[in-house]
Amino acid sequence: AKAAGRNALRFFDPQMQAAVTQRAALVSGLREGLRKQQFRLYYQPQVDRDGRLLGFEALLRWQSPQRGLVSPAEFVPVAEESGLILPLGLWVLESACSQLAAWARQPASAGLSLAVNVSASQFARADFVEQVLEVLARTGANPRRLKLELTESLLVARVEEVIAKMSALKARGVGFSLDDFGTGYSSLAYLRRLPLDQLKIDKSFVRDLLVDPNSAAIAHTIIVLSQTMGLAVIAEGVESASQRDLLASLGCQAYQGYLFGQPLPLEQAEQLLAAQPLA
Ligand code: C2E
Ligand code: CA
Ligand code: CA
Ligand code: CA
Repeated sequence: AKAAGRNALRFFDPQMQAAVTQRAALVSGLREGLRKQQFRLYYQPQVDRDGRLLGFEALLRWQSPQRGLVSPAEFVPVAEESGLILPLGLWVLESACSQLAAWARQPASAGLSLAVNVSASQFARADFVEQVLEVLARTGANPRRLKLELTESLLVARVEEVIAKMSALKARGVGFSLDDFGTGYSSLAYLRRLPLDQLKIDKSFVRDLLVDPNSAAIAHTIIVLSQTMGLAVIAEGVESASQRDLLASLGCQAYQGYLFGQPLPLEQAEQLLAAQPLA
């Protein structure tokens, strides 16, 4: 009993206490942010080999009155742990699909695709497929313009279940991209079974492309793999023309990164669109 008492005391160590309080404040801040509509989508351009616009990736931001513009790297992990990622993910999907539907009504933007990040816990929900179909129906977005970005972490679920969900959405035209490819632990034998459309070369490999032969070799392997599997491939985190040129020489078809544009608020994304016609 004495030992347990000491452990209990240790739990209330001031530093740990502070971390727990901070996290709780973040969770309640996020909950309030959802209620008060403080979340925004930013749009980062995706381009083809000639730099022509293919579409955007929707990236979440939290416009907090107290904290300013908060990056998802800071709050998505906490949103995942607390379950808030479910309502938040639904908000992202709804906003993205509404935007797709709005773009489809204008000839200059009708061909745009929009990539949306889906967290593993969101995908794992039994009603994920119904949720996506319902949002598509409600917003009137064209499923063929929607690309869901999944990470290998979704493979914590049974692979048959993952395949069934992906196939159900694919049957309606929804596309799938595997994000952060090459950074996870899943085997190629697993990945081969997934009905994917695209592999996304992680930005860590792109960053080291010119300085680390291993990173260049991995990027090359992913590009060849995508070609062999009949998939599209896109590189993220492309910041320099020399990175782009090297990727192009390896056969990469699509690019995303600061070289082509930062994640932009809607108005700026639409200005870019007006200045640069679709591919
Ligand atoms: P991600 O999906 O891998 O997104 C790419 C990240 O790289 C984004 O960070 C983007 O702003 C950043 N980036 C883009 N171009 C460059 C570049 O040229 N160089 C470098 N160094 N970075 C670049 P961001 O927007 O902070 O998002 C971080 C992560 O948060 C995302 O990584 C994604 O995992 C997650 N996330 C973002 N939006 C959502 C969302 O709506 N739902 C979920 N579940 N996760 C999201
Ligand atoms: Ca992504
Ligand atoms: Ca990524
Ligand atoms: Ca990532």
